[in-house]
Amino acid sequence: MRKDDSAPPPESGSSVNPDRPWFTRRSTLVVGVAALAPAALAGWVLTQVLAGSGSEGQQPRPLPASHAAGSPGQRDAKSGSTPSGSPTAAASTPAAAPVPAPAPAKGPLAGKTVVVDPGHNTGNFKHTDEIDQQVDIGTGHKECDTTGTTTNSGYMEAEFTYDVSQRLRAALEAQGAKVVLTHQQDRPWGPCITERARIGNEANADAVVSVHADGVSAGSRGFHVILPAKVKGGAADTSKIVEPSRELGERIAGNFARTTGSAPANYLGSGTGLVVRDDLGGLNLSTRPKVFIECGNMRDAKDAAQLTSPEWRQKAAQGIADGIVGFLGG
Ligand code: ZN
Repeated sequence: MRKDDSAPPPESGSSVNPDRPWFTRRSTLVVGVAALAPAALAGWVLTQVLAGSGSEGQQPRPLPASHAAGSPGQRDAKSGSTPSGSPTAAASTPAAAPVPAPAPAKGPLAGKTVVVDPGHNTGNFKHTDEIDQQVDIGTGHKECDTTGTTTNSGYMEAEFTYDVSQRLRAALEAQGAKVVLTHQQDRPWGPCITERARIGNEANADAVVSVHADGVSAGSRGFHVILPAKVKGGAADTSKIVEPSRELGERIAGNFARTTGSAPANYLGSGTGLVVRDDLGGLNLSTRPKVFIECGNMRDAKDAAQLTSPEWRQKAAQGIADGIVGFLGG
C-alpha cells in the first residue's frame, strides 16, 4: 500500500502467506489421509512446524510491560465491550435435538467464537456526560468510554473501527467462525469498557480483538498491537490470558503488516509493533485471549490516506482475520 514509504516493514512482502498454505494443504491431506495416513500425517506435522515457526516474518518481540503506559498515542485506546442486555447469540441453540454443537459452518474456525470490538461509538461525542462516568476496571477506575480520535478532515475513529469490524466479521465468518460484535452502532453511545469486556467473557470467546486507530502527532506512523499486562486487582486478573494474548497479538501483527504493507509503529514499541499495557479496562477485565490493534495514526496525513481508503481497510481486516486464523486454526 504505501508505495512512498521509505521504510517498508522488514521482509514483509517476502514471506508467503504464513497461515493460508498449510490450511489449504491440510484440507487436501485430510482427504487423502485414509490412503496414506502415516506419510500424510508426517507431512502435515512438518508443515505445521514450518508454518508455525516461519509464520511471523516480522514477528515482533514482546516488550517489557513498562513500555506500555504513558507512551504517546495511547490515550484513546480504551476498550470495552458489552452491550448490556443483548445477550448475543451465544446460547441460541434451539431446543430440539440433543446435539451439542450446531457448528453449521465449515472452515478452520468452525466451532470457534470470535468477539470483535469496534472501538468507541460515533455517538460518544454527543454523550460526553454518559461516557465520562467512572467504571471499575479492577485495578482502578476509568471513564466508561471515550470519543476516540478523528482524522484532520473529520473522519471519526469510531466510523473506522466499525467499518473494519464489519469487514473482519465477514472474513471470519467465511472461515467458519461465529462472530459477535460488541456493538453495531445501534446505540447512542458506548458501550462502557467494562461491558465490552464482559461480552467477550460471556461469549466464551476463543479470541477477542478490539479495533482502534491512534491519534498522535503527525509523523508518527504505523500500527501496533496492544497486549494485556499481567494485572490482578478487583475483578481484574489477566494471569491466564497474558500468554495466549501475546500469541494472538504476534499473529495479528505479522499478518497485518503483510496484508497492508504497513510498518510497525515508529513512535512506540521499539519497532516491534507490540506494546504491553496495564491500564486498559477492556484488557484488564478480559478472561479470554484479547488484544487491541491501533491500525494507524489518524492525525498523520499519510496514515490517514490509508485509513480512509475502503480498499486499505479491507486489507487491514484481512490481516487481522488471518492472524486470528493462525492463532485458532492450528
Ligand atoms: Zn481508540
